[in-house]
Amino acid sequence: MPMSEPSIFTRILQGEIPSEILAETENVFAIRDIAPKAPVHLLVIPKTAQYRNVVELAADDPALLAEMVGLASSLAGEHADGDFRLVFNTGANAGQTVFHVHAHVLAGSLDEAGLGG
Ligand code: AMP
Repeated sequence: MPMSEPSIFTRILQGEIPSEILAETENVFAIRDIAPKAPVHLLVIPKTAQYRNVVELAADDPALLAEMVGLASSLAGEHADGDFRLVFNTGANAGQTVFHVHAHVLAGSLDEAGLGG
């Protein structure tokens, strides 16, 4: 694998960029999205940066993907009513800007935020 700059999420995890770690498990951590698109907009991120997107992650480590879903669910219970939308932008043409896999946890009044579906 080619050497590359640490991702913004790795730099947050290492304390180089300020952000509150809202919750963590052994392999996953969560922060608030800096540009929220819903009343509750959190990011759930594996501590490892080895997977660029959810397709790579699911193929190689489904247990880690399940750990992300579990943390997303508990955060949705803590920060909203327990219901949530989980979004993995996959590829630049789908809006992915950070190539360190992460899940967007969207919750709260999604209809009022224009995200009803
Ligand atoms: P994506 O576009 O799916 O790759 O998502 C990347 C997300 O990271 C975007 O929603 C950004 O708002 C968010 N983001 C970028 N920098 C930061 C930061 N320093 N702290 C929290 N969220 C960030």
